[in-house]
Amino acid sequence: MFSKKLELFFLAVIIIAGVFLGLNYYRSYSFKHNPLPKEYLQRIANKEQDVLAHMQKNFGFRIKFPIIITDKIPGRLYGLTSYENGHITIFLNKKVMKESMNYIIDSVIPHEYSHALLFYLHKNSNENDGHSKLWQQTCQKLGGKDCRQYVDQKEIILSKLPFRVQ
Ligand SMILES: [Zn+2]
Repeated sequence: MFSKKLELFFLAVIIIAGVFLGLNYYRSYSFKHNPLPKEYLQRIANKEQDVLAHMQKNFGFRIKFPIIITDKIPGRLYGLTSYENGHITIFLNKKVMKESMNYIIDSVIPHEYSHALLFYLHKNSNENDGHSKLWQQTCQKLGGKDCRQYVDQKEIILSKLPFRVQ
C-alpha cells in the first residue's frame, strides 16, 4: 500500500516536472520566434528617454538614434553601432536579451548611445576600437552604469553591415 502511494507520488512529481520543462521550452521558443514582448519594448523606450534626458542635461541638446532589435547579430554580442554613409544606427541583440535584459538596459544602451553620439559629433577615435577616454566620459554622462569595452568584441561597424537585418 505504502509503496503504491510512493509510486504515485513519484509519478506525479515526474509529470509536474515535465509540465514545467514544457512550459519553459514553450516560453523560450515563443520569445525567440515572436516579436519582443511589450514589457521589453517599454523598458527599452524608458531607458532611451533617460539617456536623452542625461544628454540634454550634460550636452545641452538631445538627438535620438534609431534602435533596431534583431536576432541577426552574429555571436553573443550585446549590441553594436553602425555608421554608414552618415547614417547612425544602434542594434541590440535579441538573442541575449532574455538572459541579460538588466545589463542591456543599465549598460548596453548608454554604451551604444555614446558611440552613436561621438559619430554624430565626429569625435569617434580609433583608440581601443572606439572606447577612448572621451567615449568613456560620454557613456558616464549618458547615465551608463558600466562604461567599459566589451571583452574581445568589435561592435563598431564603419562599413556595410556583416548581416542582414530583415
Ligand atoms: Zn563599444
